[in-house]
Order: sequence, then C-alpha cells, then structure tokens
Amino acid sequence: MLQLRGVNKHYGQSHVLRDVDLDVHAGEVVVLLGASGSGKSTLCRCVNRLETIDSGEIVLDGTPIPAEGRELARLRAQVGMVFQSFNLFGHRTVVENVTLAPVRVRGLPRARAEARARELLDRVGLADKADAHPAQLSGGQQQRVAIARTLAMDPRLILFDEPTSALDPEMIGEVLEVMTELAAEGMTMLVVTHEMGFARRAADRVAFLDQGRILETAPPDVFFENPSTDRARDFLGKIL
Ligand code: ATP
Ligand code: MG
Repeated sequence: MLQLRGVNKHYGQSHVLRDVDLDVHAGEVVVLLGASGSGKSTLCRCVNRLETIDSGEIVLDGTPIPAEGRELARLRAQVGMVFQSFNLFGHRTVVENVTLAPVRVRGLPRARAEARARELLDRVGLADKADAHPAQLSGGQQQRVAIARTLAMDPRLILFDEPTSALDPEMIGEVLEVMTELAAEGMTMLVVTHEMGFARRAADRVAFLDQGRILETAPPDVFFENPSTDRARDFLGKIL
C-alpha cells in the first residue's frame, strides 16, 4: 500500500533520512522505533508531504505522491494522521470536530456526515460526549476524538506519531485499545510509539530507525528477542 524508496531528507547540513526503504502492506501494522532525533516524525511528515524530500520516491497504492498539486491533495486525503497533540477545535463540539473535514473537504451532506460521526464516536467509546466541547474531555478522550476525526475521512492508511506520549499513564490504555481494535479490523497503520507492549501485541513488523537509517525490519518477536544490530540491542536495553 505504502512504499518508500531511497528517501533522503536534509535539514540544512543535517542528513535526517538516509536512503529509507520501507513498505507497509495493506492491512499491516508497522511500528517505527528509534531513539529521539532518529527521524521518526520526519519520516511520517514526509509521507504526506508536510515536508519535502530531497530524493527518492513515496508511493501510495502504486501512485507516486507528488510534491504538490491536485494529485497530492487527493492522495493526502487518503492518509490519516494522528499526532501527539490532538489539535481539536476548542470552540466546536466533539461531533462538529469529526464532521468538519468530511463536509468541507469531501462535500458530504451535513446530516450524513453527522450520522457517520456519531457512529465513529460510538466506536471509540464516546457516544455520550458527542455534544461536549473538547475542554470538557480528558486527554485520552480527546485523542479518541482525534482518531474518530481521522476515520471520518475514510483513510486507506493512518500514520500515528506518538499518539499517547502527551497522556497521563491511566489514559494511555484506552487509546491503545482503540488502536488495537483498528489494527484487528484490518486498518493499515504506521505507528511511532514508545509503547513496547503495543508494538509486541499489535505490530506485524517493527522497523528500527537509527540516525535516519532503517537498520532492521523484523516481526516483533524476532526484533525484541533477537535484534540483529548492536544499535537496536542498545536501544532496547535502554527502554525495556
Ligand atoms: P523524537 O523521538 O524526539 O520525537 P524523532 O525520531 O521524531 O524524535 P525527528 O523529529 O524526526 O526525530 O527529528 C530528526 C532530526 O531532524 C533531529 O536531529 C531534529 O533535530 C531534526 N529536525 C526535525 N525537524 C526539524 C526542522 N524543522 N528543522 C531543522 N531540523 C529539524
Ligand atoms: Mg518525533
């Protein structure tokens, strides 16, 4: 579904993505691990061209994602993104937050978008919060709204960049649970996380990024039990 081929990215002199090759197949969950500064967020941002790349190719379902233009907008709409900060509109209700993009970007009739939004809120366990404002919700609830908002665009692929890092410990589980359900339902996901339990449980493959380079890609049981590089072993030694 998603292919990165020979992707390179610099910020000034610093070479933050180096010849990155990565595949995420349809229905697959790939967890991207790596130390702080290794390039995980940059990689996610390059996929939907929030950042330019210097060389290489990013292909979605066989179509190279161009740097600009209508085709970019079309492909970008198919890639959902969930960040550490939820960025909900504070002056809008929860259901309005989930309805906004489908109405504005996809031209869905408001009533249909709202019915779908309520369905999605139910799916993330927030049916009773549909008419609340984001400020009335906990961090975990806000992040689940952000996931519902992403799902409302019917993405083919969702990128998650540390979706639980800003949450209090007791709220991490409820967000991971929603993500685990999505994975089980066959959503294609690329997930940056430090939640190793989730990686072990939900990932089909783990990709390990070190200084902008993918050093290894392996099923989680192989990666966690028997990483093939010293860098990965060091990384795991520090976090496990
Ligand atoms: P973390 O785990 O801390 O989120 P990360 O793996 O997501 O780290 P990135 O945010 O992708 O790392 O950053 C990769 C490198 O690129 C870092 O050295 C960072 O300082 C640099 N970098 C990121 N964004 C920019 C920017 N907008 N301008 C210049 N350098 C940047
Ligand atoms: Mg990051």
